[in-house]
Amino acid sequence: MSLELTAPAPDAPDVAEDGVWLADIETGETYAPFDEIRYTGEGGNLLEVRYAEPPTFEDFQGQGRGVWRYRAALPFEEGVTLPEGDTPLHEAPRLREDVGVETLRIKHEGMNPTGSFKDRGMTVGVRVAKELGVGRLACASTGNTSAALAAYGARGGMETLVLLPSGKVAAGKIAQAALHDARILEVDGNFDACLDLVQELAARGEVYLLNSLNPFRLEGQKTIGLEILEEFRDDYGRFPDRIVLPVGNAGNTSALYKAFRELVQSGALDPAEVPKLTGVQAEGAAPMVEAIENGWADTQRWEEVETRATAIRIGNPVNAPKALPGIRGTGGTAVAVSDEAITEAQRDLAREGIGVEPASAASVAGLRKLRDRGVVDAGEDVVCLTTGHLLKDPDAAFEAGGKPEPVPNDLDAILDHIGAN
Ligand SMILES: *Cc1c(COP(=O)(O)O)cnc(C)c1O
Repeated sequence: MSLELTAPAPDAPDVAEDGVWLADIETGETYAPFDEIRYTGEGGNLLEVRYAEPPTFEDFQGQGRGVWRYRAALPFEEGVTLPEGDTPLHEAPRLREDVGVETLRIKHEGMNPTGSFKDRGMTVGVRVAKELGVGRLACASTGNTSAALAAYGARGGMETLVLLPSGKVAAGKIAQAALHDARILEVDGNFDACLDLVQELAARGEVYLLNSLNPFRLEGQKTIGLEILEEFRDDYGRFPDRIVLPVGNAGNTSALYKAFRELVQSGALDPAEVPKLTGVQAEGAAPMVEAIENGWADTQRWEEVETRATAIRIGNPVNAPKALPGIRGTGGTAVAVSDEAITEAQRDLAREGIGVEPASAASVAGLRKLRDRGVVDAGEDVVCLTTGHLLKDPDAAFEAGGKPEPVPNDLDAILDHIGAN
């Protein structure tokens, strides 16, 4: 199968443009990348961007920082940029000690321009939209995709339309979409319903779809994996054993796997060095965990989903056919965590000075659970991905954090209050 970790680099088909083309991951059918707007292959199969020349680490040397450092792994030399990527790989010594692993680093994607990793996908996706000459960009979103699309659309001088599940989007995210001047359609339904609708709009040619179903977005998101490998190797002279990440539509899981596969294809990475991709979902929205536990080739749609981690409140992960081979092919696993465990992990990260939204904390909650179960070994080098910034969801932060204490406008009263008198 074409998504195996050790599959050789493909030969460029006639339809390739500058060594880039699209391929159906099920049938292998190939398509020219920019001749027409195409999101899927026959029968809705997922597409993937392919390259005649997969990248090596040397290609990235001296190419600056951020997403476009990795242009050798991308379909363009530059994009619509704010700029994005080059996020911190924090140490978290108390948390590392407490969880009990050899190394723990936190790749904080909340430090991107709009506060989530979605920016990495949009810098490429909006560039492709310009190439195709489309007028109106659109997405369904649990919030962060809409914030990123609104900002990158604005940057690119394009009109944007976002479909959001009514009442289920964190305040910071809607505020961003609103100020960057997206048209916001609040749908009386969940994220999966919004995605069904926006796919219909795209099929009718009304909008250019920038959900992670769009294979070009995942190209930008590959750079999370490339940054982690380079930064970890610079610090320790080796690659991490495991990368733990929250899973919603499984775009990141697919993208990181693709980054590793391409490095294996070029000979830059040994298959044995590829980190184990470990996906974490909330118990109330865990179709990927169900598919991994049951050995299924695809997920079954969950009609009812619920979790405080609204960014991963998704019942039908569209990228599952790409992500499941990634989890299995790297020897990883998937685990579901409770909302309480997510909030506890959010507090754990905050105590290290790292402010994240609930979905992001799922990675740390999942690591803790897998360590407790003995699935993760004490000797492992682990990177947890935190996907979005604390300020995205101020309500969740208030709920998880300490409460403000009213005091009189009086020094003595304040000294009394803090126990200093
Ligand atoms: C989009 C998003 C996710 C889910 O990522 P997928 O690539 O869809 O699995 C997780 N956390 C945050 C904060 C997000 O915005």
